[in-house]
Amino acid sequence: MNGITLFGKRFVPYIPQAELEQDIDRVARRMNADFAGGEDVPVLLCVLNGSILFTGELMKRLDFNLELMTIKLSSYQGTASTGNIREITGISGNVKGRRVIIVEDIVDTGNTIVYLRKKLMDEGASDITICTMLLKPDVYRQELKLDYVAREIPNKFVLGFGLDFNELGRNLKELYVLAE
Ligand code: 5GP
Repeated sequence: MNGITLFGKRFVPYIPQAELEQDIDRVARRMNADFAGGEDVPVLLCVLNGSILFTGELMKRLDFNLELMTIKLSSYQGTASTGNIREITGISGNVKGRRVIIVEDIVDTGNTIVYLRKKLMDEGASDITICTMLLKPDVYRQELKLDYVAREIPNKFVLGFGLDFNELGRNLKELYVLAE
């Protein structure tokens, strides 16, 4: 079976690029309907580095006026969530009084989005919406509702389409999963 090995771990193809793009099409259609006709310019907040590809794919499908901002967070080490969120770079603009759409690559324990939501509230965002490409529902145990989920996956470590293993693999076009 074709796959790749990174740092001694084997990853096998999991979700083809075309399927991910169909998931993104669906989410974008819903967001376009929900945000159509707004008088403000919502902020699309790309959570670096993982959601860089997803944000790009999503953003080119969105047809309402938006402003792109970024924040760089880190919580994973290797293939496990540490629960300890580090802010590498703060939000690239002022969110006070703005509607903010958080764009995440993957929600696992949910610690990251809970942290981010609180930070946005502290910085005065008027409304916060959460959009994630992937969700691991078996692991997610937060009260916080996720507004847009492109695809649910089982509790397995995935790689590619922006997601890394020790910073490698983000440029893979399809999603790979750690082999058993
Ligand atoms: P959470 O705070 O929800 O536990 O984790 C969110 C972050 O952990 C994601 O933004 C991502 O960086 C990382 N993460 C969680 N699951 C995976 C995974 O399966 N693969 C990769 N590459 N990163 C993951």
